[in-house]
Amino acid sequence: LTQLFRPLDMLGMVYRTVRQGLIDMAEMFRLIDTEAEVKDAPGAPVLVVRRPTLAFEDVRFGYEEDREILHGLSFEVPAGAHVAIVGPSGAGKSTIGRLLFRFYDPWAGRITIDGQDIAQVTQESLRAAIGIVPQDSVLFNDTIGYNIAYGRDCATRDDVIAAARDAAILPFIERLPEGFDTEVGERGLKLSGGEKQRVAIARTLVKDPPILLLDEATSALDSRTEQAILATLRRVSEHRTTLAIAHRLSTIADADRILVLEQGRLAESGTHRELLAGRGLYAEMWARQQAEDREEA
Ligand code: ADP
Ligand code: MG
Repeated sequence: LTQLFRPLDMLGMVYRTVRQGLIDMAEMFRLIDTEAEVKDAPGAPVLVVRRPTLAFEDVRFGYEEDREILHGLSFEVPAGAHVAIVGPSGAGKSTIGRLLFRFYDPWAGRITIDGQDIAQVTQESLRAAIGIVPQDSVLFNDTIGYNIAYGRDCATRDDVIAAARDAAILPFIERLPEGFDTEVGERGLKLSGGEKQRVAIARTLVKDPPILLLDEATSALDSRTEQAILATLRRVSEHRTTLAIAHRLSTIADADRILVLEQGRLAESGTHRELLAGRGLYAEMWARQQAEDREEA
């Protein structure tokens, strides 16, 4: 019997790890074929999106019954806008992403995309609408082409090439002796952090989602690589509704709106200029990070 249960335990572990890391769950569900905690409502319709507006409406949530993490959070990301969430570690930033992808349901309040409650539509259609670039992207032990195509079931060779070009990794791939057929991952070619993030961006572009969720997408990179990847992200997020979670404020200073989250509540919001002028938490964090950057330089 224990023999029987061990694989299930492992799948549970994979599921939790994946959920924490915000990896593409739709695919993971298929791989591990395990029942999710969150279920589709009976007869749930598909999410219909064009230029989606995203909204959190008085959302309350916690992972454990007696410990609320988000205390009635409300904000909106207008269609095509770029909104950033910053704040101290543990404030609940990544939790917002996990709720948007519906790994969990809120205790109260709702999350809507173009006015549709995400808890009322199919998870498949919800997750198809959102592209995620996490801090550390996971590559499969397969070819670089497979790793990019994996963003969408029916991706063609042309889709993959176009996505690689937009993610600025095409020249790199073309220089490899085996091109898109080069094996990567543990048993293949080891990619640098920046190259891995470019593959992840290409994977997301193949999916062509109207919504982008960036969770500290560049925070594991050195600052030169970070600048290059940021430029690419800025380009690919241009016509997409984008929610960017960031640790380094310099990476989101140009966002249309910045939300400062502190212990599960919105402490401040505004543009970079407005927040600096406000002399609050953001201004304080900015001054601290600028000083740190100067020390490093
Ligand atoms: P941030 O991304 O802002 O650093 P998170 O959203 O990851 O913060 O976490 C917010 C709070 O929720 C933290 O106190 C964290 O310890 C807690 N938390 C995160 N994930 C879980 C989990 N799976 N189970 C219990 N608590 C969690
Ligand atoms: Mg986080």
